[in-house]
Order: sequence, then structure tokens, then C-alpha cells
Amino acid sequence: MQKKISILLIEDNQDIQEAVGLIFDVHWPQVELHRALTGVEGIALMRSESPDLAILDLGLPDIDGLKVLREIRSFSNTPVIILTVRGEQMDKIRGLELGADDFIVKPFAHKELLARIKSVLSRTSKVVAEQDEQQPVMPKTVIDFNTGEVIKGEQQFKLGRTELNLLKYLASNDGKVVSDSQILITIWGEEYVDCAEYLQAYIRSLREKLEEDPDNPQIIITDADGYKFQQIAG
Ligand code: CA
Repeated sequence: MQKKISILLIEDNQDIQEAVGLIFDVHWPQVELHRALTGVEGIALMRSESPDLAILDLGLPDIDGLKVLREIRSFSNTPVIILTVRGEQMDKIRGLELGADDFIVKPFAHKELLARIKSVLSRTSKVVAEQDEQQPVMPKTVIDFNTGEVIKGEQQFKLGRTELNLLKYLASNDGKVVSDSQILITIWGEEYVDCAEYLQAYIRSLREKLEEDPDNPQIIITDADGYKFQQIAG
């Protein structure tokens, strides 16, 4: 028997709720779909059901979808795919910076929905490279490469799954520069090779979390050919 996969759909539009439910019934019956029609309900189900993945519409009646995402990320690493309306590029970028794993533009075909979900699930479950558990990367910053826990001076927080995978991948290249396309293919998959905005959004968010001064990075360095990871302490 195939393992059940639990997916939470946070979307106030009943037609989309029904369409997605039908797509899973027909094409992927192993999916157990939880439905939320509001942001509040979505956050509550995220806590109580701990789904394997969430699909989050940005236009919700009660709370702005990006706020819902920020709230979810404060307690959960579960992959989140956001639903946006065509042309809302800023929402996509903000969403990626806040820790969304991918986005789907409405209206979407069932094949795209299924492909995105499968790609996100396989990407977020794979470990890019094994690292020693805890490593100091700066005099005051220690990262646990297994759990994503970061201690930075007085602050303590957890990196998202994709953030951690990206950081691990850069760190596993031992100070060597890795090109944008190599990173996109390894972390997101071949079909994402041209999605530079994913990489830029994640680099920015990692820098905001890890660097003393995100505008003058000391850990994740931009090079003409890509990015490299630099370890100053340890
Ligand atoms: Ca909506």
C-alpha cells in the first residue's frame, strides 16, 4: 500500500477547492486533502494536522496570505506552495523571501499542480550533503546543519528547509564558487534553471537571517560566476 500524503489547501474560492479535490481524487488518491477557507482556519489546521505540504492562496478574506505564510513559518518547516494571480511578481518574490517553496499561477492545469507538488516534496525531503552537526560560521553565529537551528548572538531561530538545503549545498562546496544554474538545478531541479528570482530571494532571506550586515555579506559571497560560502570562525 502506498503511503498517504496529507495536503492542506488554504483557499476561500469554493470552485478551486472543489477542482483541486477532484484532481486528487482522480489522479492521486493517496492524497488526504484538508481544506481551510480562511487564514485563521489554515493556521489552525497547519498546527493540528501537520500536513506534508500546504497550498496557500494569497487572497484570503480574513488575513493577507503573506501574513499567513509568515505565521506558519514561525512554527513550521512544512513546504508551502503559494497560489498567485498572473502578473503579481512582487507577491511571488515576497512569498519566496518569507519561505514559500514554490508558487503556482492561477488558473492552472491539473498536470502543473501535480508536477509542482511532486517536485517540492522530493526536493524538500532530500538532503543535499552531510555536514558536521554544529558549525560556527562567524564568531557569534553557530548553525546546526542537521536541524537548521541557528544561534546568532542572543537570537535563536530555525532556517526553513529550502534555506537549509541551499546553505548546505554552498557549504559543501568548500569555499568554491557555485554557479546560479548549478544551484538552481541542484536545489530546485532542472526545470528551474532559468528561475533566477528563486535563488535571489532565498539568498536575500538567508543573508537577512545570518549576516551581521546583509548589505555587506561575509558568509554568502556574491561572485561574478555565482555564490560561495565563507567560514570565518571554527
Ligand atoms: Ca482567494
